This record gives sequence, structure tokens and C-alpha cells, in this order.
Amino acid sequence: MILSSLFRPATARLHILFTSRGRLMSFLDWPIEHCQSGGRAGDTRRRKSASHLISLFARAFPQITYRLIWDSPLINAQAWRLGKGRNVYLYGGLVRHPVITRAGLAVALAHETGHHLGGQPRDPDMTWMSWQGQADYWAAHVGMPAVFGDSARTLTLRGARQIGNLERQLAGDMDEWASDLSPAVRLKIFSAGLRGEAMPTCAIDEFKKLSSSRLGVKTWAL
Ligand SMILES: [Zn+2]
Repeated sequence: MILSSLFRPATARLHILFTSRGRLMSFLDWPIEHCQSGGRAGDTRRRKSASHLISLFARAFPQITYRLIWDSPLINAQAWRLGKGRNVYLYGGLVRHPVITRAGLAVALAHETGHHLGGQPRDPDMTWMSWQGQADYWAAHVGMPAVFGDSARTLTLRGARQIGNLERQLAGDMDEWASDLSPAVRLKIFSAGLRGEAMPTCAIDEFKKLSSSRLGVKTWAL
């Protein structure tokens, strides 16, 4: 079973599983900070910036509950459901990461929101949520413009590049890291979403591969 997140290792092992009313909640095979900040310069500014972003997203998407988990060393963000509640968590390790700025955090929040609101195609494993690539597409096409208006394009491109750079860095740091969508494919998805173009063929191919590796083969239905 795989959990929705900004970075989704294809080979992730399930370590912790907490369910409530049948919902998958959490697993930990995610990257964490090497040494957690103890009041590093700039932390206060980053924390304020993240909190402000969360307030913007909460205003645009009131059906989602957003939280900043500042004390967590996880370098990630997460979408999850509990009953009918739709949640997005942004973890401190991502907020404090040197390659991520406000733009990267905004794209991360838009991506996680896209897991809830992005529609078809859905994840082959967890059908309550939109597939990883669809969450990226929705983030660029709908989520970012809804929050940032005319500034969305610049912020999305900048943030998407930051997330790609971070994923490349994580892949270099962690053995056996293999994401189900490469940073290059994700950037193409973000670009297509910004322009309102169709989902790139390379992304559709990745979805088909993911679906066919599961028990029931699902067809592409965007
Ligand atoms: Zn995701």
C-alpha cells in the first residue's frame, strides 16, 4: 500500500499503518532532515511564510483542513482522509529545507489538495484520491490559479523546479529511492496543466504501468 504524498517512493515499505473506519492513515519510509533545526536563522520567517500559505489555501478550499506540523523532521507533505474529513499536512522538514522556498511550499500544498479534488484518474491503490500525476496536473491547472491568480504561473514553474531538484537530491542521498514519477515527467505535467494542454503521453504511460502492476488493470480515464 502506498500513501499519497509529495514524494512517493515506488519501493516504499509499509512501516506504520493506522486505520480508522477503514482509511489508510500513515506509513513512514519518507526522507527526514539529517539534523533538525534548533532555531536556525530564517526558521521564524519560513514558519510564518508556511502558515500564511496555509491560510490562503484554507480560504480558497474551505472543504480541506490544512495543518503545519512544524516539529516534524519529515521532508514531505501529505493528503489523507478520516471519515469524511479531508486533510492536508505540511511537515516541518520540507518547510525548512534549503532548496525549498515559498513557491515550492505552495506547489506542495496545491499538489496535496489535488489528491482530494483532482478527480480522475484515481490512484490504483487508494481510489479515494487522485493519482499522483493528476494531483500535479490539477495543482498547476486549478489549484495554484485559484489561490494566486495572475502570479500562479511564475510561482508554479519555480516551485515545480524546486520540488524536482529536491527529489533528485533525495534520490542521491537515499539508497533504493525510486519514485514512481520522475522529476522530468512531473515538470512536463505541471507545464501541461499550466497551459491547459492534455496530460503528456509520457505521464499516461506511467499511469498505465502503475495500473497494470496492480491486480486489476485500470484504463486511462481522464
Ligand atoms: Zn502526491
